[in-house]
Amino acid sequence: MLASFTDGTQAEGGLLVGADGRGSVTRTCIFPEARLLHSQEWAVYGHSDIQRLDPAPGAALARGAGLMVDLADALFMAYRDDPQASRNVTWLLGGPTDRKIPAKNFELLDRGILLRELDDLLRRRSPVAADIVAASSKLAPTQVFTLSPLPAWSCGRVALIGDAAHPVQPVTGTGTTFALEDAMYLARMLREHHYLDAFYYLHADRHHRIEEMISRAGNKSPGVDMELGSMRLNSFDINWEKPDDVPLTELVPAPNL
Ligand SMILES: Cc1cc2nc3c(=O)[nH]c(=O)nc-3n(C[C@H](O)[C@H](O)[C@H](O)COP(=O)(O)OP(=O)(O)OC[C@H]3O[C@@H](n4cnc5c(N)ncnc54)[C@H](O)[C@@H]3O)c2cc1C
Repeated sequence: MLASFTDGTQAEGGLLVGADGRGSVTRTCIFPEARLLHSQEWAVYGHSDIQRLDPAPGAALARGAGLMVDLADALFMAYRDDPQASRNVTWLLGGPTDRKIPAKNFELLDRGILLRELDDLLRRRSPVAADIVAASSKLAPTQVFTLSPLPAWSCGRVALIGDAAHPVQPVTGTGTTFALEDAMYLARMLREHHYLDAFYYLHADRHHRIEEMISRAGNKSPGVDMELGSMRLNSFDINWEKPDDVPLTELVPAPNL
């Protein structure tokens, strides 16, 4: 395999694993007909400075308590990023929409105007959520796309993992887990099998779980179905053997503070 990159560099190897996200160029090379589908949801993510919050919600979030507010036509969630690291709170506000919101009214909208619109939506219904949004240092209005299930996650010597193979609605909070599981499971399969079998098992053993999550999230108000939460907790057994002599702390380095 020879991969050529836009910066002019090239890499050569026996296999190519495309872990290049939901807009995957690798996927376009092996499944040119695959198209991203708008999942009829809108989502805005933000980071807020915990120091700018009123003492009560600020203290609750600082202790690690998450906040979830069901607004019927939208869902608000907030949680502290990493209790040991930054002072930031990550929040998410999202809901269904019949039609993709035009970019000029969403991603490209002036951040001050967007903040005012979010405040109008939240202030009377959840002052705490409105305060957290008002304290935002970063805002990310995000269009949510999924993909019709691919017939396979590989073609020849090329395989796809993570969002490249199966973009998951962000509100499920599972996309990162699925991507990491894919990577570890594929590594294990490649250790044990011929690459064609490894690519086959990656898809055959994993696609049902992921497609069911995408389908459930697409059929419900985002995040409010508790079944989603319980399903998220279902584990996938990778059966990964940790080398005995390596302490766990070395395998999972502390976040870069
Ligand atoms: C706003 C937002 C919030 C989210 N919140 C959550 C959450 O709370 N929990 C959760 O589990 N998931 C969440 N997700 C989903 C999660 O981020 C993804 O499912 C996960 O990052 C997928 O990992 P990945 O490695 O497959 O792809 P990515 O993380 O997208 O990584 C792909 C990488 O490939 C690189 N790349 C792409 N194309 C090229 C190219 N042509 N050349 C070179 N490099 C390239 C990209 O720069 C990127 O570094 C969220 C997503 C969004 C957008």
